[in-house]
Amino acid sequence: MSTNPRNALNFSGGPGALPETVLAQVQQAIVEVPEVGLSILGISHRSAWFAAVVDEAERNIRTLLGLPEDFHVLFLQGGATQQFSMVPMTLLRGSEHPAEYIDSGYWSRKVISEARREGPVKTIWSGESCGFNRLPTDDELSFSADAPYLHYVDNETVEGLQFHRVLGRDDVPRICDMSSNFLSKPCDADKFSVIYAHAQKNIGPAGVTVVLVRDAVAKRSPDDLPSFLNYQRQIEASSNLNTPPVFAIYVVLLVTRWLLNDIGGLENMARINRHKAELMYSALDNAEGFYQGWAQKADRSTMNVAFNLPSAELQQAFFEQTRALGFSGLEGHRAIGGVRASIYNALTLPAVERLVEFMADFRRRN
Ligand code: PMP
Repeated sequence: MSTNPRNALNFSGGPGALPETVLAQVQQAIVEVPEVGLSILGISHRSAWFAAVVDEAERNIRTLLGLPEDFHVLFLQGGATQQFSMVPMTLLRGSEHPAEYIDSGYWSRKVISEARREGPVKTIWSGESCGFNRLPTDDELSFSADAPYLHYVDNETVEGLQFHRVLGRDDVPRICDMSSNFLSKPCDADKFSVIYAHAQKNIGPAGVTVVLVRDAVAKRSPDDLPSFLNYQRQIEASSNLNTPPVFAIYVVLLVTRWLLNDIGGLENMARINRHKAELMYSALDNAEGFYQGWAQKADRSTMNVAFNLPSAELQQAFFEQTRALGFSGLEGHRAIGGVRASIYNALTLPAVERLVEFMADFRRRN
């Protein structure tokens, strides 16, 4: 295996870094999956081998999350963006009551505008007036019993805001976009009706989205939807309705094995992720205002740490110097600028320590 040290310092918001051991297996699989004798890129999606890959990936996700039996595990295409529409296509068309959405940042806004095409939507809280630098407190939220569902984004990737509790009421289905914190910690899956997460942050390459959907939700899929957009049809086809992204799903399998066998499950993953986040946020808090965190403390994300420097010149110098040292992906999202360090599962503690050391040194020099 040829290792590339720059991969270890990839703080990109997504596609993100993958574990070294997974990359080594992928490198081998490009040439030959030993059990099959063929490159992963040329193995049939109708082969027994691929059916076993899907089975094991599903089983591993069930084990990692302790998923209740009535959840289906789907591996779909179209990204998280397709779920922005598939959810309301399934649960909102023709509804007289609005679905409730929380507008907590860049990705929430995208979700809400897609949902509005399908039916009535009520934004029950918006972070717009505070510049999306915090999330709602319980006092600011009230949920209606009549809503067909509640939707929120568990981790706002751009602003680095994360909910540290489950929202909503038990008698209204909770639907959650967990694209940027899926499998980074345990998640009380039993409280949700649909959880979706694209792979390209914590669990694999772009091209596949994991959708956990309760049977009762899938059964409500309208018959006039295209099969591709119909949860029930996808379930009946075992995520193999048309040619699925075999490669991406295989990498997801390797990452779930890594989480189970190398990391030892999601409690351990969460502990490591908390430690990394504490290091990053201490670097901000101990900088006497030199580094200004975007998110209010209570809502800080353990995955995306967004912050600003005192001037555009210093920010430029920060990017140039980190790039020269082999760091990458630190530029903030174009929507808000600044710096964003994404510290997904595969980003190691030593990599965070190196960034934090650089940040302290950079501040001393400036
Ligand atoms: N939701 C969140 C939280 C995201 O971070 C992103 C993309 N970074 C998306 C949805 C959109 O995902 P996709 O590009 O897979 O459609």
